[in-house]
Amino acid sequence: MDEILLMLPGPTSVSQRVLEAMSQPIVNHRSALFGELFTKTSSLMSKIFKTEHQSYIITGSGTAAMEAGIVNTLKPNEKVLNVVGGKFGERFMNIAKSHSINTKELEVEWGKAVDPKNIKEALDEDEDIKAITVVHNETSTGVCAPIKEIGKVMKNYDALYIVDTVSSLGGDYVDVDNYGIDVCVTGSQKCLAAPPGMAAITLSDDAWEKSNDVTPNNYYLDMKEYRKSGNKNPPETPYTPSISLTYALYEALKVIEEEGLDNRIKRHHKASKASVEAVEALGLELFADKEVSSATVTAVKLPEGVTDKEFRGTTRDKYKVELAGGQDHLKGNVFRIGHMGNVTYKELAITFSAIGMTLKGLGIDVDPGAGVRSITESYI
Ligand SMILES: *Cc1c(COP(=O)(O)O)cnc(C)c1O
Repeated sequence: MDEILLMLPGPTSVSQRVLEAMSQPIVNHRSALFGELFTKTSSLMSKIFKTEHQSYIITGSGTAAMEAGIVNTLKPNEKVLNVVGGKFGERFMNIAKSHSINTKELEVEWGKAVDPKNIKEALDEDEDIKAITVVHNETSTGVCAPIKEIGKVMKNYDALYIVDTVSSLGGDYVDVDNYGIDVCVTGSQKCLAAPPGMAAITLSDDAWEKSNDVTPNNYYLDMKEYRKSGNKNPPETPYTPSISLTYALYEALKVIEEEGLDNRIKRHHKASKASVEAVEALGLELFADKEVSSATVTAVKLPEGVTDKEFRGTTRDKYKVELAGGQDHLKGNVFRIGHMGNVTYKELAITFSAIGMTLKGLGIDVDPGAGVRSITESYI
C-alpha cells in the first residue's frame, strides 16, 4: 500500500531520523542518562520558545499543557478572559470552566483575528480579570492572532498573558520573553514534527509567583512538582515520562536547530503564501481573512457541488493525500491543508495536484493543473 501523505494540521509526518531516535534503549528515568536528555531537551525547547526561563516537558498531548497553564495560575472563581475565535480558543475556555474558574468570552468571528484594542477594552472594563488566554494560531480556522501586539497591551496590566502556540511554535514567530508572554504552551506533533504525545510549557516569574498562591485542582499537572523534580541533580520529571518520545522530541528539536529557527519559519511562511496562491489559482476561496492567514495551515471553503466525504475521501483513497476537514459548524464546509513541520514544495506540489484532479473528477469546472502550476511558479 502506498504511504499516505499527511497534510494535516497535526499530527504531521515525522522524519526517519526522528522515528529512529525512538528505538533507543529505555533508560532509568531517575538517572544521569535521563537527566542529560531532560536538560538538553528542555534547553532546546526554551531556545525555540525564546525564553530565558526553564521549559518543562509533559507526557501528554498539547491539551495537557493548556490545562497545566490554566490550573497553575488561576483559582476557582477567579476571572479569566478567553479570546475565542475557533475550536481551540473555546477549549481554553472549557478547561477553565471545568475547574470552576470564572470565564468571560471575548468572541471573535471565526475566520477573523482578534483586535488587540478589544482586549484592552475588556481589561479596562473589568479589573477582576486575572489572566487572558489567546490561541496564537487558531488551527480550526487558519487564522493567526497578533500575539506581539497583544503583548504590548498586556504590559500595562497585571493580568497574566497565557498563549497557546501548539500549532505555531517552530513554524511562526513566537518570542515569549519579548512579547511578555507569561505562560506559553505547545505540543510535539505540529510544527515541531515529532510524534504525538508530548507537550511543553514555560512560565514567567509572574506566573510562577502566582502559582505559589494556587493549589492546582489537578494532581498530574502541578507545575510546582515539575519544578521541584527538575531542580534535582540529576533533573527528572515527577512521574515516569515517555522516554521514547522524549528521545524523539529531542531529535526533532535538534533538526530545528540545524535548519535554523528563522529559516524554518520563513519556509513555513513561503509554504503558506504558495498555498494561498494555489488555492486562488484553482478558483477556490479561503476561509480566513487573507491578511491574517496562518503560516502553518490554510483553511479553504469547499466548492459547491462536492461533499466533504467525497472530496477528502478521493484525495485520500485515490491520490493518497490526507487533508483535514472542518470542525464544528465548519464541518462539511471547509477543508484544511496543514503545511507545518517538514513541508516543502514537494508535498505541496503533490497536494495541489491531488486537489485539482479530485475536483475535476468530481465534476467541478476547474483547470486541474492550475494549483500545481501555481506551486511551481511560487518556488521557481
Ligand atoms: C492541536 C492543537 C492543540 C492540542 O491538541 P492535542 O490534540 O491535545 O495535542 C491545542 N491548540 C491548538 C491551537 C492546536 O492546534
